[in-house]
Amino acid sequence: VTAIERVGFIGLGNMGGPMCGHLVAAGFDVTAFDVDAGAVARLVEVGARAAGSAADCASGVEVLITMLPAPPHVESVLLGSSGSDGLIGGLGPGAIAIDMSTSSVAVGSRVVAAARERGVEVLDAPVAGQSIGAKAGTLAIYVGGEEAVFERARPLFDAMGDPARVFHLGPNGAGYTVKLLLNLMWFIESVAVGEVLSVGVRAGVPLEKLHGALVCSPANSVFLERDVRMVLDDGDYDEAFPMRLVTKDLGLAVDLAREVGVPVELSALIEQIHRRVRNLYGDDAGEISAVRLYEDLAGVQLRLPRS
Ligand code: NAD
Repeated sequence: VTAIERVGFIGLGNMGGPMCGHLVAAGFDVTAFDVDAGAVARLVEVGARAAGSAADCASGVEVLITMLPAPPHVESVLLGSSGSDGLIGGLGPGAIAIDMSTSSVAVGSRVVAAARERGVEVLDAPVAGQSIGAKAGTLAIYVGGEEAVFERARPLFDAMGDPARVFHLGPNGAGYTVKLLLNLMWFIESVAVGEVLSVGVRAGVPLEKLHGALVCSPANSVFLERDVRMVLDDGDYDEAFPMRLVTKDLGLAVDLAREVGVPVELSALIEQIHRRVRNLYGDDAGEISAVRLYEDLAGVQLRLPRS
């Protein structure tokens, strides 16, 4: 098996743009496409070829990567409107389609079925680490698919992510599953921390004492100790990951639970709380805005004194 050289990359947004740039920098021959022409121009500046269309981007490549907003975009690009006029049909036998979007196992299985008919391989490989991690090339990558295909694609993952945090998790769908579940846990934490800190401050405990004591308790978490500090220190709710994508991910996690037949009362409530947050603060409100909801409900502002 020869090393991969020619790569097509579709979806050059907050995440895909910098990820595609890392592939160019690592020496791959990359053709890039996005419906936003400005996004393509930014990649051409760093050395990618511009594709005139999605079909153009997939033509003759060994690997086609998609980094699109949500399952409907992935389905329309890879499978097309009729299910058979998408890009999977334009890839040659032995080519690999890697979807790195946070998408669903359901759409992923339809992609795998269409690909199998053509001898095309498929990996799901969603990521974590925010746009900062995409820019720094330090993303964590969660991969589902055949081990041998994963090994062939590994140099691409190592160029876009932190090689120590590139995980092969099982067959197709395992990557999407783990990504949706880790997001779900993080957003559960966000609501829990927003509630607890707001109640404590309203009850009269200074935030720095409350936060310090909780961090040193058995209830500590990475969210409490590190991530919520963006809000507590700077009033920054992290708009790099907007509520429109947060509610999409939480909906997909609850759908997944329904598909496998597990009742998830808490997860469903967490999804609805984030839908309320999106309605209140807007589609582009930052991912930690659930904390803002509890600040507003309690009439407090959770800010640590500048040290
Ligand atoms: P984004 O909205 O910034 O970028 C998506 C890009 O896809 C845009 O440039 C858009 O023009 C393009 N696009 C949409 N439809 C297209 C089509 N049919 N053909 C070609 N291009 C098309 O989103 P993002 O923040 O880059 O997120 C991408 C994926 O990564 C999402 O699934 C998201 O949930 C996931 N993700 C995001 C973050 C984050 O912090 N932003 C972190 C981890 C995972």
